Amino acid sequence: MISAAEALARLKEGNRRFVAGTRSDDTLATRTRLSQLAENQEPFAVILGCSDSRVPVELVFDQGLGDLFVIRVAGNIVAPSQIGSVEFATERFGTRLVVVLGHSRCGAILATLEQLQRPTETQSRNLRSIVDRVRPSVEALLATDLRREPDALVRTAIRANIRASVDHLRHGSAILEQQIAHDGLVVVGAEYSLKSGVVEFIDGGTDAAQR
Ligand SMILES: [Zn+2]
Repeated sequence: MISAAEALARLKEGNRRFVAGTRSDDTLATRTRLSQLAENQEPFAVILGCSDSRVPVELVFDQGLGDLFVIRVAGNIVAPSQIGSVEFATERFGTRLVVVLGHSRCGAILATLEQLQRPTETQSRNLRSIVDRVRPSVEALLATDLRREPDALVRTAIRANIRASVDHLRHGSAILEQQIAHDGLVVVGAEYSLKSGVVEFIDGGTDAAQR
């Protein structure tokens, strides 16, 4: 299995191709590739992304079959089943890089801000379970001057939510904590721009994986 730093470089390279509009031939789902993967897989990165239709993970990183272990949920939140999925991949396949991929104009963040600013009782219990996971990281921002600058508030809230998910994965599981301390596992945050297609790595994406 490749190292976290190597995996990160591969993702950055793939996103550069996506932005440039060039595609790697390696990502094509050929018959040979299908049969190679039928028996087992060795995904080089785990990505926890948002369900948003505009952020298909394999496309924005220009990767193919068997390359990425992807978990998608609205707002790229971390609940027990997401932690379990990450643990499964890092233990079973030895994957050393985990990326929390948020994105600009995320509907889950917008819905949470809306709910905090104009609470309604009509929200479904299920949707609320997502909003409740986003809430702690954005609630404090509403007590600052940012509340008067809607665009900056949304941008900051999106980053805060990505960082909260990164933090939760780093510290919410004894298994992952152990792998981070001793086995070279790296968890980083990243934000995808809907406008430019660029993925910007934040919170450890530029330095932590260089080890
Ligand atoms: Zn989203």
